[in-house]
Amino acid sequence: MRISDLGEFGLIKRLKDILGSTSIGDDCAHVRLGEYNLLLTTDLMLEGVHFLRRYPPESVGWKSLSVNVSDVVGNGGEPRWALVSLMLPDMEVSYVERLYIGIKRACEFYGCDVVGGNVAKSDRLGIDLFLVGTSDRPVGRRGAKPGDSLFVSGTLGDSRAGLELLLMEREDYEDFELALIERHLRPTARIDYVKHIQKYANASMDISDGLVADAGHLSERSGVRIDIDSSRLPLSKELIRFCEKYEKDPKDYALYGGEDYQLLFTHPRERWNPFMDMSEIGEVSEGKGVFVDGKPAEGGYRHF
Ligand SMILES: [Mg+2]
Repeated sequence: MRISDLGEFGLIKRLKDILGSTSIGDDCAHVRLGEYNLLLTTDLMLEGVHFLRRYPPESVGWKSLSVNVSDVVGNGGEPRWALVSLMLPDMEVSYVERLYIGIKRACEFYGCDVVGGNVAKSDRLGIDLFLVGTSDRPVGRRGAKPGDSLFVSGTLGDSRAGLELLLMEREDYEDFELALIERHLRPTARIDYVKHIQKYANASMDISDGLVADAGHLSERSGVRIDIDSSRLPLSKELIRFCEKYEKDPKDYALYGGEDYQLLFTHPRERWNPFMDMSEIGEVSEGKGVFVDGKPAEGGYRHF
């Protein structure tokens, strides 16, 4: 049997069984140390899979920290300390330095520090980042309650549109296209939501595989049904212009596009905060599965 026969999640399940672990299955591992709740997370970015050599190295560095911060804030935590392991071919030193300038800028933005790391020679460039966060009240994928409303932060689908534009490798892009490309290359983790998630969310995660796929994880782990109303998906004006220009359906991008690094969370409707960019897009009820406009949904990014 090969990994592609099992898929990413089938493989993870078998590895969980070997470890006898019941805790694996959230964006972060939740552990307690003395009086502290620690959130531990790690993410590997590989050249050719997650980024290309021609991308600005500062953006790659920024993104490698941001995707980990996104998991921590998605679990209601503040990022604290990071370790960076580099897989490096023999390449220009300036590339690696620029990568680290991006990591440093991200550390300043999110308020965390790189406290160590490791370097190994490799045929392919890769950055593996391990991040520790702390939280007064960690929140995970388990905990969504029937009667909760489903919320997302920001807008959805921009990153996938940005990736498609990047892969066109054009000489010139319009301004709105550059804005979408920027959202793919340099996503910002929603650190401004930490307090809201800590205080109010019953379940929460970040959206990395796409809304429908990630809502599926939340539904499965909480043992609830999730209904998404596609007319309420938050769409950016840039995504709408992109879809007009290239004759695409923006709902496809919002439902299935990955790497937006927005947050998906549930709580009672009255905890909606009109001063934050959150949208109520659906509801939680008894049952199982994810439904879009009443129809069963599936899909999302698969690593194998
Ligand atoms: Mg995640």
